[in-house]
Amino acid sequence: MPRGRTPRQPARTGRQDRVARAPIRQAQGRRLPAKATKRGNNAAPKGGKRAASSSKSVPTKKERYNPLAPDRISEILKRLDQLYPDVTCALTHTSAWELLVATILSAQSTDVNVNRVTPELFRKYPTVEAFAALTPDQLEPDVRSTGFFRNKSKSVVGTAKKVVADFGGQVPLKMEDLLTLPGVARKTANVVLGSWFKIAEGVVVDTHVHRISRRLELTTNTEPQKIEQDLMRVIPREKWILFAHQIIWHGRKLCIARKPKCVDCLLEDICHAADKTWSTVDMHKTAKA
Ligand code: SF4
Repeated sequence: MPRGRTPRQPARTGRQDRVARAPIRQAQGRRLPAKATKRGNNAAPKGGKRAASSSKSVPTKKERYNPLAPDRISEILKRLDQLYPDVTCALTHTSAWELLVATILSAQSTDVNVNRVTPELFRKYPTVEAFAALTPDQLEPDVRSTGFFRNKSKSVVGTAKKVVADFGGQVPLKMEDLLTLPGVARKTANVVLGSWFKIAEGVVVDTHVHRISRRLELTTNTEPQKIEQDLMRVIPREKWILFAHQIIWHGRKLCIARKPKCVDCLLEDICHAADKTWSTVDMHKTAKA
């Protein structure tokens, strides 16, 4: 096998399963690197000399790689468009109010779980006024299976009362108004503004966006608000809504938390995540979920 066509060998931890069967891909016409190592492709082999470079000046590490370079960001967005061209919010809803309730219920739960509960919930309480007339303990049995049901009941009923009292029964369209509702933080507000009202006020940062943004080196932060600010700086505003949907779908389908399916991922050759399960490129220690 000629040099430059060798996939990274399985780690001792055994995490790079399927490596033997993995196809050697030359994605999008880019040259596959020589054997990828943590020391980098240009690193001198142990005990040997680094191969002479044809270029006169050797670029510094920083010049060689910038994870936030506009070309790289465009490439990530282009490939996400190829992978997930028309994705939307997976929470079942028919109004801004229903989406707001479903998003509150989705905390620490899955969309599938929430979608099992909400059709019956909205049949039983069809309007925001019907929710506002409840006490939290009356709602608890209906949302119990989504987890954290006491807090969620309090948030949903409290939010309904405030929407009725302060906003005429209509879910507000402004971030600052949404943030006054009990149990509503920026993530929930961004979901409602983006998915229902199509207003790009920020980027939804849920568990998938948190993990994958770090793996793709779009941020080094760990706090959702800081991650959102970083993403708002590098992702064009017109892409904020779609980008979050795409990343959330990517997190469900391929870039899963414990064992990402890197061998099947279209972003593989531009992803340097430290916990990849298969790689044709350098893996960066700092690119951790
Ligand atoms: S290559 Fe692996 S870690 Fe990177 S985005 Fe794809 S699935 Fe996630």
